[in-house]
Amino acid sequence: MLASIRMFVDLHLHADGIPDADLATLAYFGVKAAVTCARDAGAGSAAALRRHWDDLVGVHAQRLQRAGIRPLVALAVHPSRIPWHGADDLLHRLPHYFDDPRVVALGELGLDEGSEREEDILSRQLELAARLRRPAIVHTPDREKLARTRRLLSLVKSSPLDPSRVLVDHVSAETFTLARRVGCWAGLTLQPGLFEAQDAAALISKHGADRIVLTSDIGEGATDLLALPKAAEALQAAGLSDELRRRVLWEGPFAFLSP
Ligand SMILES: [Zn+2]
Repeated sequence: MLASIRMFVDLHLHADGIPDADLATLAYFGVKAAVTCARDAGAGSAAALRRHWDDLVGVHAQRLQRAGIRPLVALAVHPSRIPWHGADDLLHRLPHYFDDPRVVALGELGLDEGSEREEDILSRQLELAARLRRPAIVHTPDREKLARTRRLLSLVKSSPLDPSRVLVDHVSAETFTLARRVGCWAGLTLQPGLFEAQDAAALISKHGADRIVLTSDIGEGATDLLALPKAAEALQAAGLSDELRRRVLWEGPFAFLSP
């Protein structure tokens, strides 16, 4: 008999956008560990971004913990949030945050509009991830997803960071193939307009669970709080084996984060 998998790791949510009651609900439905990622909140100052990082580590990690979810944190300069002044200083300070064992990855970083400045900040953060031996959780935009992902992957390939340390998140059916071809992980984000649980199930039955994870991106905009638990049910309903489900929902995320 298939035991229902009731334990998930979410590699991409935003705890600062999730009220305590909702964190408790997530824990109840089986979210055991979660990476709260530094977010896109529009262009801000370097000081505002540092406050955001400090809040994630100092406030929101504790909120996750209190809700019964193992708190993990990813910090980076999001492509939509590169400050006009002080970016160098931010990148200089970023490594010090990794003294805290809960800070486990760089994220979210990536390309949004795809400007030269975005590319420069992305490449420097990929280098930093390689130097710190940390994985990177990479955002891909809705607009021009295919073109931006292509460019992003070529920057990954020319960086010192091994592609197996990169999670390309919010993939489409097309960019899924591209990301995995170069050896990156693919994040299927289960939100309306991104990935449907049934499509995720079909993809996993076809390709196996290697380097595939499911992410929710909850806490940013209008989203389905229970995206991940519902997806887990959909995977079971689609007849995916216990082992496959355990790998995408539990073992895969931890393997991605492991040093
Ligand atoms: Zn996000």
